[in-house]
Amino acid sequence: MAAQEQVHPTRQLQIKIHHTRDDPRYRLCKDAPETVKHIISECKQLAGNAYTERHDHVAGVVYRSICDEYGLNKPQHWWEAPVKVNKNDHAKTLWDFHIRTDKHVLANQSDIVVVDKENKRAAIIDIAVPNDYNIARKEKEMFRNIALLENRLKNAGK
Ligand SMILES: [Zn+2]
Repeated sequence: MAAQEQVHPTRQLQIKIHHTRDDPRYRLCKDAPETVKHIISECKQLAGNAYTERHDHVAGVVYRSICDEYGLNKPQHWWEAPVKVNKNDHAKTLWDFHIRTDKHVLANQSDIVVVDKENKRAAIIDIAVPNDYNIARKEKEMFRNIALLENRLKNAGK
């Protein structure tokens, strides 16, 4: 709750509110003031590993619920990575899948692809974990990438 309400005792807060510190820089990167916003979504030090891990855990929750929906085998624990290809008679899922297209598509990597064999439908699922101020921009970016990919796939099928 403290992080959500922006009252977590970050260094920036300790300076501005408590007046108990001089250096506001985040202890991990020392690039920017230590704020909740910086820690949860802006830090370059965390971007390559912690944010990716968070993203994969969120995508894993979605993945496991898709497995439940179609009766597919799924990882037993939340920290286990899904298999690249998972299938049974009803469906097939692709995890972290690189979709081949005839021309270069900016984002042709998809978090989850679900192929519903009975209904002959497929869904491309991309997961993002943006900070609230960044939702609109991220949503727009993802819709553009998905539309581009969908268009390429439809044309490839002709
Ligand atoms: Zn940082």
